[in-house]
Amino acid sequence: MDHEDCIFCKIINGDIPSAKVYEDENVYAFLDISQVTKGHTLVVPKTHTQNIYETPPDVAGKLFERVPAIANAIKRAYHPAGMNLLNNNEKIADQSVFHLHIHLLPRYDENDGFS
Ligand code: 5GP
Ligand code: ZN
Repeated sequence: MDHEDCIFCKIINGDIPSAKVYEDENVYAFLDISQVTKGHTLVVPKTHTQNIYETPPDVAGKLFERVPAIANAIKRAYHPAGMNLLNNNEKIADQSVFHLHIHLLPRYDENDGFS
């Protein structure tokens, strides 16, 4: 279920190129174009859903089910000291792309750019 004007639907479809981290039939993960920290990754459901409020439980389940494996892949690739998971919903909460996504933010030290 694509949404014509959605950047992340275009990324999932391959209409916009992305650096793929992981893909299966339900989930796509790719490097954020603006790397807050090295390895900053976005994990999205292939089903378009605007935010956490609009997300059916089965879509949420399939998305979060894959997050530990994706986090471990990033950990193996980048060797961060820690990792933040972040999900912004609505403009006031800094959501800028209205297709549900989880930020995986590897953390290296107190000066790594994310606070
Ligand atoms: P939000 O602010 O909605 O939580 O996060 C949206 C994220 O999407 C931002 O961190 C932004 O850098 C990223 N982003 C926006 N457009 C693109 C794009 O075309 N490609 C990739 N890889 N990331 C994007
Ligand atoms: Zn979308």
